[in-house]
Amino acid sequence: MPETNHILVAGGGIAGLSVALACAKHGYDITLVEQASEPGEVGAGLQIAANGTKVLHALGLGDALDTIGFRPRAATMRLGSSGRTVFSNPLGDVATARYGAPYYHVHRADLHRILHQAALQQPNIKLRYGTRVECSTDDGTHVHLHLDEGAVLAGNALIGADGIHSRVRESLFGEEEARFTGNVAWRLLVPTHELPKDLIPPEATVWTGPGGHVVTYYVRGGALVNFVGVVERDDWQVESWLETGDIAEMKNDFAPWCETIQLLLGAAKQETCFKWALFDRDPLPQWSRGRVTLAGDACHPMLPFMAQGACMALEDAWVLARSLKEGETIAAGFQTYEHKRKRRTARVQRTARANAKRFHQGRLPGQLLNYGPLWLAGSTRPSLLNLPFDWIYGEDVTR
Ligand SMILES: Cc1cc2nc3c(=O)[nH]c(=O)nc-3n(C[C@H](O)[C@H](O)[C@H](O)COP(=O)(O)OP(=O)(O)OC[C@H]3O[C@@H](n4cnc5c(N)ncnc54)[C@H](O)[C@@H]3O)c2cc1C
Repeated sequence: MPETNHILVAGGGIAGLSVALACAKHGYDITLVEQASEPGEVGAGLQIAANGTKVLHALGLGDALDTIGFRPRAATMRLGSSGRTVFSNPLGDVATARYGAPYYHVHRADLHRILHQAALQQPNIKLRYGTRVECSTDDGTHVHLHLDEGAVLAGNALIGADGIHSRVRESLFGEEEARFTGNVAWRLLVPTHELPKDLIPPEATVWTGPGGHVVTYYVRGGALVNFVGVVERDDWQVESWLETGDIAEMKNDFAPWCETIQLLLGAAKQETCFKWALFDRDPLPQWSRGRVTLAGDACHPMLPFMAQGACMALEDAWVLARSLKEGETIAAGFQTYEHKRKRRTARVQRTARANAKRFHQGRLPGQLLNYGPLWLAGSTRPSLLNLPFDWIYGEDVTR
């Protein structure tokens, strides 16, 4: 166990809370600082693949996850123009057997709530809401978090889990704007009972289209359908989960799409329609310095086109806590963590970027080139469809 025991965590999203829980489980005392005044009903659907599920199991949250999650039957690709299926690859028990844990769809707020409740039950975690981190400093023996209310918190180590615009990352490596990716995401939650019966199959479905794609799946035990519609646009660069969008404008973006998408959009309500510009960063060359490191979107923000943002944050949390425990010093523990995580997260970031091109094929030659091999594999040797995902879902960082 390194020098001393008090860890500061900046940010109380999925990364911050899971880092706090994993570190508490490894014997550390945590103070977590979050700018929001309280945990709330923000965000929409998140996909938790087997690699993320394994971390939640290790944190003791398997039953809670099963209660809030929806288990999709398959991962399916369809053409957005016609609705025709390119392939459908079983998830459910088949994927659980292959990867060692189930695949879930959750509402971000539900996942956040079970992590938050677990943190409240840990006597060695202190949660401080309504406080914004301005910057951090490291004097070699202690780290300091400078807060907006003027207070300064001291600890033995600091983990910046404060998202894509991380102040901790900025304090470590200087200011650098995140990159607008040229994609805007429309997000919608539609009550299932307001849709025609069986309109949306109980699957993780990617609908590919010209200059955009749609993802549909169920959350909240099947009570809500989650819609994410991505379009290539550069006239909107507001990045916020709280920014509502105009339904007519959203429908216009998907006007030429198939009837299923039209029916789904037809049920949209203004208050659950959000518009979110997608930003990311190139993989960072360095995550840690001395007693300070980063986790989650603070160090590897990515396009959501691999549905792995939350899973990578969960994996970070476990590897970070164990590396810290096993390191001779805090700095050594953080170096080990960074070394173990950087290559994998960079690969997910790059694959997510590549999927933008892959999913946005509207013309026949591009469709044949990109979807033809997938259709052929799905029709002849479906197990081939798993190969691009084995390295992600098969990982178990808790072993
Ligand atoms: C409100 C919200 C909703 C989201 N909803 C979805 C979704 O529906 N689907 C999806 O795929 N992804 C969603 N994401 C992104 C996804 O949750 C993340 O990619 C992933 O879970 C990694 O999370 P993170 O904790 O690293 O970053 P984030 O989820 O961004 O969390 C960072 C946390 O740090 C806090 N914070 C930031 N700056 C400061 C500061 N200076 N001081 C104190 N606290 C600070 C933020 O308030 C936030 O709680 C959402 C993110 C947010 C913030």
